[in-house]
Amino acid sequence: MYAKPSRMVLARGAQFEAQVKASGGAQLLTLLREDIGLSIPEAEHEDLKTIGGNEGKLARYRNTVQRLTAVARSAQDGGTLFDHPYLKITVAGYDVFLEPDLVAVKSGGKFYIVEVKSFSVIDGQAPAAAVEGAELQAAVYVYALRELLRSHGFDEDLVADEAIFVCPQNFINKPFAARVNVRNQVAAVRRMLMRMHDLDTILSNLPAGLTFALRGPAGSRSAEELKAGLRLVPARYAPSCLDTCEMARFCRSEEQGSTAVLGRQVREELALDTIGEVVGLARGTRLPGLDQVEQAELLRRAQQYRDELLGSLM
Ligand code: SF4
Repeated sequence: MYAKPSRMVLARGAQFEAQVKASGGAQLLTLLREDIGLSIPEAEHEDLKTIGGNEGKLARYRNTVQRLTAVARSAQDGGTLFDHPYLKITVAGYDVFLEPDLVAVKSGGKFYIVEVKSFSVIDGQAPAAAVEGAELQAAVYVYALRELLRSHGFDEDLVADEAIFVCPQNFINKPFAARVNVRNQVAAVRRMLMRMHDLDTILSNLPAGLTFALRGPAGSRSAEELKAGLRLVPARYAPSCLDTCEMARFCRSEEQGSTAVLGRQVREELALDTIGEVVGLARGTRLPGLDQVEQAELLRRAQQYRDELLGSLM
């Protein structure tokens, strides 16, 4: 869970963003060229926030699609910093619009997501929780941009695995830029979204006549009747349920042996339902499905490190 940023932090972030984007993104371009080594020869800065005064989501999304696909089509390298592009992903059947800070195109044939962050980098170190949140956010943008290009016939590899974070450095507002590889996070986001079903699908899969009503035609329903009804619906337990829901102990016992008891993040990143599957893939006793090759590789490596570490302690 991330703490809500204070007003002061938000104001500082907005001020820093305005600073690096001022004068057509002059500071930003210098950073991208000199510190990050992107070859953006003659870059322009184009703000996609409004189109002829229209700030509607669909209008902004269509405009972003048109501008970015035109660049993808062009054989020219270098080009434009697109400010406030509008992207879209589908979450459980619903469109969700997203607004990255910037898309930098096209360096070495790649599009880069650029995020201006307000957390400071001090002596080369940034707060781990803030970086983790920023990486996940950037991964969602990379995924969304890939989906946009893929759905218009372009290769999704046009979008770099690396996002660029621009942060204030050492208690002053001197900008600092770093490339961060978010490949694993993008794969986790993809798996997470693939596993989400829309509400109609969820409802249509519920057993006919299912009810959680405490009273039936014959009066109060027994605890066993209520439990039998609850067991017909898969629990979505996560350890955080213990703090928020009276059903937590029941759901936890229902989910014994499932990856859910290890936490939502573990379940979503693994995209595997049971601990048995995880152990089987890690030990190589279970063959991965076509969509599990990547997880299996990561799990085998983790198992190998664990075995090496335990071996060295003996
Ligand atoms: S404990 Fe509550 S919130 Fe958690 S899965 Fe069960 S019913 Fe849902």
